[in-house]
Amino acid sequence: MKHQPRVLIVEDEPAIAELIAVNLQHGGFDPVVAQDSVTAQRELDAVLPDVILLDWMLPGQSGLSLARHWRKQSRTKSIPILMLTARGDEPDKIAGLDAGADDYITKPFSTQELLARIRAVLRRRAPESANESVTVGALVLDAATHRITYQAQALKLGPTEFKLLHYLMTHAERVHSRSALLDKVWGDHVFIEERTVDVHVKRLREALGGAGSMVETVRGAGYRLTALAAPATSPAAAQSGT
Ligand code: CA
Repeated sequence: MKHQPRVLIVEDEPAIAELIAVNLQHGGFDPVVAQDSVTAQRELDAVLPDVILLDWMLPGQSGLSLARHWRKQSRTKSIPILMLTARGDEPDKIAGLDAGADDYITKPFSTQELLARIRAVLRRRAPESANESVTVGALVLDAATHRITYQAQALKLGPTEFKLLHYLMTHAERVHSRSALLDKVWGDHVFIEERTVDVHVKRLREALGGAGSMVETVRGAGYRLTALAAPATSPAAAQSGT
């Protein structure tokens, strides 16, 4: 059976909590509801969820201070937190993100938007939790140590290029559209333009040096990482190899 991501819903209004829980269940998640911070903490102590939906306005300890607290604890610090807020103004959203929330969603929200945002925060976390090494041709990426080598030579990549390469390598030989890459690598692309992808692909190619030609532009479609292109079309690789 497919793993159903466990979602801890911290929400004091029973009707809203129930509505979210039902929708998450239909969306393939395993929801657990806590109506206050004490219950939420007890849940966390028992079973770690894959993601936390945290209401901003709670009786007693606020969602904001809970987020801050959980971010400091080693046991909970890497769980994605999605803040639920009835307030729409910018300073509050920023305060939420500053407190360690991964994203926020303003009430009232649509079920589809909520599910999309939960999937997005889960995806954004996923590459970090998959501590495996991936090999495509002579290119090797070790997710645990963040090391990349090409023909046994170490390469230096920025964080976004690293994530982009990690995604392309784990989905090699397939063509990915710009919007698909934004969705998979950046998590959600509400504020990011598609040409951002081109900028990072260019940087990635430069950082890859001789292996740069493995990142192919597929006209009118997007990008593809392929093991096949590297030796034939890359004279730089022969020069940089020792
Ligand atoms: Ca509330």
